[in-house]
Amino acid sequence: MLYHIGDRVYCRINSDSSVIFDYDFYDSRYLQFKIRTFEVIGIHDIFYVILCWPGVDDAVLLNKDRIDKWNINPKHLGRYGIFVREFSIGGRETIDYYKNALACKVCKEYYPYAEPNQPDGSLVCWVCRTTRIIY
Ligand SMILES: [Zn+2]
Repeated sequence: MLYHIGDRVYCRINSDSSVIFDYDFYDSRYLQFKIRTFEVIGIHDIFYVILCWPGVDDAVLLNKDRIDKWNINPKHLGRYGIFVREFSIGGRETIDYYKNALACKVCKEYYPYAEPNQPDGSLVCWVCRTTRIIY
């Protein structure tokens, strides 16, 4: 397994708040994705348990039974987690990730390895440029 407990990793989240199954998968229906970072709190078979917020599709409440069964630190009791496969994870969040990323001026989302595309040196992402008429 590529990632370890305590790692902060990033995944793509769909507009309906589900984790995109394959991080690299391209489908025009998924253009409204956001990149979000999550903490790995458990490893169970071929799945990672990552900490999430309750609104995420398929999020499960970490009750005592699940914490015991999945060998998760009890400090996460009462929080929410979701199971993801390795290919749903884009990578480990590092300082480099933010150093080489630009935030979109409109939606504030971080885009790794993005280049400025506005006259003032800022970035407006493709999603904002194509879905918001002001651009
Ligand atoms: Zn944007």
